[in-house]
Amino acid sequence: MKTLILEIKGNSLDDGPGIRTVVFFKGCPLNCVWCHNPESKKAAIELSWDKNECIACLSCAKVCPEHAIDVHNQNFVDRKKCTLCFGCVDVCPSGAMSTVGKLLTVEDIMQHVLKDKPFFDTSGGGVTLSGGEPLMKIPFASELLKQCKNNAIHTLVETSGYFNWDEFETCIAPYCDTVYYDIKLIDEEDHKKYCGVSNTKIISNFKKLIQLSQSMGIQVVVRTPLVPGITATEKNLTGIAQFLHQHGVDTVELLRYNPLWPEKCMKIGSDAKIDEALTRWMTHEEYEQCKKFVSKGMITL
Ligand code: SF4
Ligand code: SF4
Repeated sequence: MKTLILEIKGNSLDDGPGIRTVVFFKGCPLNCVWCHNPESKKAAIELSWDKNECIACLSCAKVCPEHAIDVHNQNFVDRKKCTLCFGCVDVCPSGAMSTVGKLLTVEDIMQHVLKDKPFFDTSGGGVTLSGGEPLMKIPFASELLKQCKNNAIHTLVETSGYFNWDEFETCIAPYCDTVYYDIKLIDEEDHKKYCGVSNTKIISNFKKLIQLSQSMGIQVVVRTPLVPGITATEKNLTGIAQFLHQHGVDTVELLRYNPLWPEKCMKIGSDAKIDEALTRWMTHEEYEQCKKFVSKGMITL
């Protein structure tokens, strides 16, 4: 069994406790307008062109059977003509042309993970499944988590909450120590508008997860990305906090928005619309204001 993996990143200090190895799955059922990992959205291998690495030798253009490479095109590759044969990747001397995503087995990933085990053991770390959405591939994720547990490795799953509950309960929950669960927008219409799908499944899965976590000892950490003008509003943050409070959860981790993703879109030829409001960092004052909105929602009225 192979699945499409974007990247395996070792020595991470940002994706759970201790030093971690993070396995980024490729493919996501959501389509958030602010996604800072646009290369993880599509469940297919993609072609990337990095203009900063390109030395303009044009070896790629000489081998391209579709004549899809044009130096006068600011995107360099005409994605409508490109058939993803990856001949250009083989001849590119600088690595400017590369593939995004590779098919790996659980055994391939475990080889990588087990090399890092001494770091997990000394730091209280482990393995994090991230994405994209790792729970789009539950049978694969289940086997990977199981093998981690067989090797006494702490496991964490980062999810959008958009997954099949029955499969999660039987195949993921028994092998998962911690879940990082995103609640991005509490209003269903806003969720459809900015994330491409309804949040009904996400909210329903969350309620079931909170119940299950108590009987199975799974730690659940709720996270909300702060996107200026979209998620970082009083209505949304207070609404999320009230919802969590009603379900016995009194903390939410607020993730500062990272506006450095438009360059990644260009590399893979994504036609995502980039609103100007999404190209700036959030100020310290705005962040403090967001914390106040959350506190307001957590207060029992
Ligand atoms: S991957 Fe696309 S751009 Fe590259 S050689 Fe093949 S058709 Fe041309
Ligand atoms: S082969 Fe690589 S370095 Fe040369 S022009 Fe193409 S992308 Fe640039």
